[in-house]
Amino acid sequence: MIFPIVLDEVERHYGPVKAVDGVSFCAQAGEVVALVGHNGAGKTTLIKLMLGLARPSAGRVAMLGQDPADGDVSVRKHLGYLPETVSFHPALTGRETLRFYVRLKGGRRGGEDALLERLGLAHAAGRRVGTYSKGMRQRLGLAQAMIGEPRVMLLDEPTTGLDPELRQQFYALLREMQAGGTTILLSSHALNELEGNATRVVILDGGRKIADGSLDELRRMARLPTRIRLRTADGGAPRLRAWMGEPPGLRQINGHIVEIDASPEDKAAFLRRAAGADAPFEDLDMMPPGLDELYAHFLAQRAPR
Ligand code: ATP
Repeated sequence: MIFPIVLDEVERHYGPVKAVDGVSFCAQAGEVVALVGHNGAGKTTLIKLMLGLARPSAGRVAMLGQDPADGDVSVRKHLGYLPETVSFHPALTGRETLRFYVRLKGGRRGGEDALLERLGLAHAAGRRVGTYSKGMRQRLGLAQAMIGEPRVMLLDEPTTGLDPELRQQFYALLREMQAGGTTILLSSHALNELEGNATRVVILDGGRKIADGSLDELRRMARLPTRIRLRTADGGAPRLRAWMGEPPGLRQINGHIVEIDASPEDKAAFLRRAAGADAPFEDLDMMPPGLDELYAHFLAQRAPR
């Protein structure tokens, strides 16, 4: 099987700066991989290497089984790219802009209107891009990246500037592409919105990969506690605390809510006890660590440089 994305011990140096430092990973068809990391972690450089816009100083990049920088354009036709900052000619209409990119990609004319429709821009197809809002320009950028139904989509901070509704629409589009077998790699700083949308998260720091896995896998690796919040009738918090045995770290939030952070083992033991008839609470919420907590954990654990 050919992986759509293969990075093998990839390095990219800019003078003394190691923008990418020994990164390896593969992505399968239909995966949505999120690259996360601080500013300067190497996300954009990795995307450039995958597009063939930069060559690795060491290691190997293969996209759909080919070197994207070897001059053969055939592989690049199957790669869609949305840069971090999209800028289009303000005097061209949305339709003209897409037509221009179709020609640039050597694609067949037509289909622009269908793409604009898919991105919710049909009503603005004949309007000059200079009159578009930031969200509309971002969607036009995504339409441009989707020309020719690429097998791999590389999206650099694609939701910056989109309002919550447009973000949801954006992720719905990604799910459609994913269901069709497209491999999607996006870089993002918006950790919360990646939960439930990315099948896998790769954390970068100073050009190095410091963690890689699904949210569940990262949780298992990190072994961070799950927050358990218990609610009872008004004034019942002392009874709850007594039933729990006043363990260290127990927090009383108010007269009827207490919270505790439970390790994976403690969580299972707690749940068994909570199923008993004498458990004095009315409601229970379990909050596993979010991606922002996991991210902070892996950064704190990284090897000193
Ligand atoms: P951001 O979130 O700010 O976009 P990033 O994770 O995409 O950051 P990169 O843009 O890949 O990070 O940069 C990684 C490192 O490489 C940074 O230290 C950056 O200054 C350096 N770098 C990137 N491109 C070049 C270049 N063309 N010349 C010199 N240094 C560069």
